Amino acid sequence: MNTARSAELYAQAQKLIPGGVNSPARSWRSVGGKPLFFARGSGSRLWDVDGNEFIDYVGSWGPLILGHAHPRVLAAVQEAASRGTSYGAPTESEVRMAALVHEFMPGIEMVRFVNSGTEATMSALRLARAHTGRHMIVKFDGGYHGHDDALLVKAGSGAAAHGIPDSAGIHPGYAASTLVAPYNNLNAVERLFAENRGKIAAVIVEPVAGNMGVVQPEKGFLNGLRDITRKDGALLVFDEVMTGFRVHPGGAQALYSIKPDVTCLGKIVGGGFPVGAYGASREIMQNVAPLGAMYQAGTLSGNPVAMAAGIATLEALKDPGVHTRLAHVTDRLADGLAKAFSDAGATVTVNRVCGMFTVFFTAGPVTDMETAGRSDRQRFSEFFHAMVGEGVYPPPSQFEAWFPSLAHTDADIDTTVAAARRALRK
Ligand SMILES: *Cc1c(COP(=O)(O)O)cnc(C)c1O
Repeated sequence: MNTARSAELYAQAQKLIPGGVNSPARSWRSVGGKPLFFARGSGSRLWDVDGNEFIDYVGSWGPLILGHAHPRVLAAVQEAASRGTSYGAPTESEVRMAALVHEFMPGIEMVRFVNSGTEATMSALRLARAHTGRHMIVKFDGGYHGHDDALLVKAGSGAAAHGIPDSAGIHPGYAASTLVAPYNNLNAVERLFAENRGKIAAVIVEPVAGNMGVVQPEKGFLNGLRDITRKDGALLVFDEVMTGFRVHPGGAQALYSIKPDVTCLGKIVGGGFPVGAYGASREIMQNVAPLGAMYQAGTLSGNPVAMAAGIATLEALKDPGVHTRLAHVTDRLADGLAKAFSDAGATVTVNRVCGMFTVFFTAGPVTDMETAGRSDRQRFSEFFHAMVGEGVYPPPSQFEAWFPSLAHTDADIDTTVAAARRALRK
């Protein structure tokens, strides 16, 4: 495969941008080699700057549930942009978008739009602190909630793949108020609450973990968190930046029938544009300025072009057939890959929920960061590179989710499984 132009751009990028990338997950640090630079996407396909074609399973890390360059999204974006790209004043599109979010997630009575998932979680924690008058936060080992200072503790994928347990440059005071429990371990959470009674503002959790690779909540885990937080007067924050509109139209909270106090959104909600959101009951959201004393703002928040992309995406997800289709695509691919590995005599664990899955190179079961960490990363890297050579673009890290989309056809899936069979023979 000729990747000369990518290599040339990478060399230039490394001189101008740290590591040549604007987000570490895009680098191929954990798998080795040089990242490809992309020029075009359409449906399930990506083309790099050298003209190589790939079936894409990164999907911009989650937003592109409809696939690349979906006509409805493009038309909405072009129409909105033609009327001006930002006014710094309220628009009708924000009202429509807020109503749509409420329709998909009725627990969100009021919502505030921001520009990224990081902003959503950062603001949600500020809200939890403002509402409860408490400081401490509980998160889970391997849970990634963006790069907010308070949450870059045991933060999964990027850090795990790069062997950096935490980030440098974080005020020790922030990390000190963040308590960490293993995912799927209610006893550990109970212990933290017993030791810090009345001091914990919130538990923040990915209701399906996606940033240590995909790890499902075990039966009773999310319900247990609901009970523990309610009893102590702490808030339960669901970080649905990845799972929102993906695992179910109403997110993981609908899939598992659990009502969190605060929900964080990102990725799909922006339809490929920079949008995040946090929402809750009217009572809790009253804390947010200008209604309340918790300040949070944004020059480009609720941007009309981004709102147009989000509205077009969510409107397309109203069709009741789409999640059945997405679950089918996910199962066909996860089952196909599992079979390909087992036929090749390789031991893997495939964790999946509708729209997302991970192949862990370990016998499993994978239920938390520790068991995910038993994966053979060398073998993952070999598989990754062999798949790229076969025209398939999986996430370049063991600890990430593959994102099949509604643009992936059964033929795409079968081509991918056939590619995996060839890759495994190498
Ligand atoms: C991607 C992600 C974030 C961060 O969102 P950004 O838009 O990258 O800031 C937060 N939480 C979860 C669960 C995510 O997957």
